[in-house]
Amino acid sequence: MDSDCIFCKIVNNQAPADFLYKNDTLVVFKDINPHAPVHLLIVPRKHIRSVNDIQKEDSSIVSEMILTGQQIAKQVGIAESGYKLLFNVERGGGQVIFHLHLHLIGGWK
Ligand code: AMP
Ligand code: ZN
Repeated sequence: MDSDCIFCKIVNNQAPADFLYKNDTLVVFKDINPHAPVHLLIVPRKHIRSVNDIQKEDSSIVSEMILTGQQIAKQVGIAESGYKLLFNVERGGGQVIFHLHLHLIGGWK
């Protein structure tokens, strides 16, 4: 855990979030500043700075993040209408929180 990292605090229940799902690998919660009717963040418990820092040993974490996105999209009813799964990578890619997260965005009419 990185004590300066807001997402480490959230996954360790040291900061609040509106959770939809939790397991031993990751958590899913609502983005505090949604850009769409559905805007969720899929966040691994492990502190990984960005996509640039994913190691081969993290493969199962990353695949679980994507499969969780697929499942949560179904659960919230946007699987058929469609959605985006998005990683922002480093500052130029729009990343502002340097703890890996996958945006699940959708719900447009
Ligand atoms: P990124 O630009 O990919 O780093 O995305 C970070 C996202 O985290 C943004 O969409 C923020 O609105 C969101 N965010 C920042 N702090 C919190 C928080 N405490 N709880 C929920 N979402 C947050
Ligand atoms: Zn962190």
